Amino acid sequence: MVSRVIPVDPFDLIIFGATGDLARRKILPGLFHRFTVGQMPEEARIVGTARSEMDNDAFRGVIRDSLLEFAPRAAEQTGLLERFLEKLSYVCVDVKGDQGWGDLAGFMRPDAVRAFYLSVSPSLFGEIAARLNENGIATPDSRIVVEKPFGHDLASARALNASLRQSFDEHQIYRIDHYLGKETVQNLMALRFANSLWEPLWNSTHIDHVQITVAESLGVEGRGEYYDRSGAMRDMVQNHLMQLLCLTAMEPPSRFQPNAVRDEKVKVIEALEPVAPSDIVRGQYRDRNGEGSYRDHAGDPNSQTECFVAMKVNVGNWRWAGTPFYLRTGKKLRARTSEIVVVFRDPPHMIFPKMEKHRGNALIIRLQPDEGITLRTTIKEPGPGGMRLAEVSLDMTFADALGSHAEAQDAYERLIMDVIRGDQTLFMRGDEVESAWAWIDPIIKGWEESETAPVSYDAGGSGPDDALMLLHRGGRRWREIEV
Ligand code: NAD
Repeated sequence: MVSRVIPVDPFDLIIFGATGDLARRKILPGLFHRFTVGQMPEEARIVGTARSEMDNDAFRGVIRDSLLEFAPRAAEQTGLLERFLEKLSYVCVDVKGDQGWGDLAGFMRPDAVRAFYLSVSPSLFGEIAARLNENGIATPDSRIVVEKPFGHDLASARALNASLRQSFDEHQIYRIDHYLGKETVQNLMALRFANSLWEPLWNSTHIDHVQITVAESLGVEGRGEYYDRSGAMRDMVQNHLMQLLCLTAMEPPSRFQPNAVRDEKVKVIEALEPVAPSDIVRGQYRDRNGEGSYRDHAGDPNSQTECFVAMKVNVGNWRWAGTPFYLRTGKKLRARTSEIVVVFRDPPHMIFPKMEKHRGNALIIRLQPDEGITLRTTIKEPGPGGMRLAEVSLDMTFADALGSHAEAQDAYERLIMDVIRGDQTLFMRGDEVESAWAWIDPIIKGWEESETAPVSYDAGGSGPDDALMLLHRGGRRWREIEV
């Protein structure tokens, strides 16, 4: 398959926090990759800003080191690497002071796309937006990109939205959830809305339940104190898992256009029913092999923050009544894996002898580690010996099926190019974020009021037993977290 790269318009991209972890590990390597595949026009320019004093050469040196460390094959592409670095400039800006804004204003070209990437703490979003406006750097067409966490609860998300909207319109604001930039996530939309095969089956008549798992093998070592202020519900469920739930459950939009798609996602969130406390399991990993427990890493022996959540969620609408969605995410689990498993109902009448471990049809959409789609089906076991059934998988790993075309394009690079194109489809709209918090807030408040503690689970396992029971109660079971 021939790779098709559609060049974007010339742009001036300003990265705030350009010396930070996210910029060095994801944003600049992503931009470099787009440059190497020829998507970036000659006239594209990137300006890094941060608080430290340094000149262009010093900044390019920092980014050269980062690209050699984080960009695949940068070491073999030194010619391209140097040409890419020439596109970079640096302006020292203390966003709380006056320094640097005039230099930035002087840098901008009237006819290039303007984008501002705020890779800094959300506490600085409002201030940066206001100064871009006051200094005449922002125009009605320029774009502003903000990172998660987008609020801590509904009130703070509203305040953040209000502070951005004082200087930018909603159509200029790009709230990143990098899960939406993953190839498989977009493929979920293609699978559902570009094929006629699935739509007749995509409802509670045919689907028994859906499992959405985002499992991490790492704990919170090194950033436990920071993490302990948020927890899995705020850090993962409110954004990544809810986005996956929305894309799986949404109605077909009338067009593949930003607001048409996002309207349908908001409707899913608004249809979510309150969750009974008995349908949620919270957990913390305990020590194994002396690596330390969650509480050790959080630095608080009494921490009540969950680093694991499993919950049964009901989408209260005609399509999904009677088909629960089970969400699960946690730290220090058996493997790092993200997947959506759509489990179909059993045939209404089985004419064959029952298989011992019959699990039935399931469509498995893998987001990581190797993106792809698997359809679990039942066939006759080959060979003599009567009519014995076996499960087989129709498997499509993108890397195998599509070859170099599927070559890892990081979610960030796709999303940054969407910003330059002015396409908001894969970004969260303000009301979407607020609706998600409006549903999450009472759950967290309920935990705080009940003062129930998270249950503990073995590091390196599948999470607490209670999470297994959550499905067993309904005669179901989780798909194993595969190593
Ligand atoms: P970081 O602490 O590594 O970097 C922060 C950057 O902001 C630095 O370049 C620093 O110089 C700059 N900065 C801080 N205060 C400033 C000021 N007053 N004026 C000018 N510049 C200032 O943080 P990070 O890990 O790169 O994260 C950046 C943002 O992205 C945060 O909102 C974070 O929550 C979010 N995020 C990060 C990751 C990640 O993988 N690192 C993932 C998702 C979201």
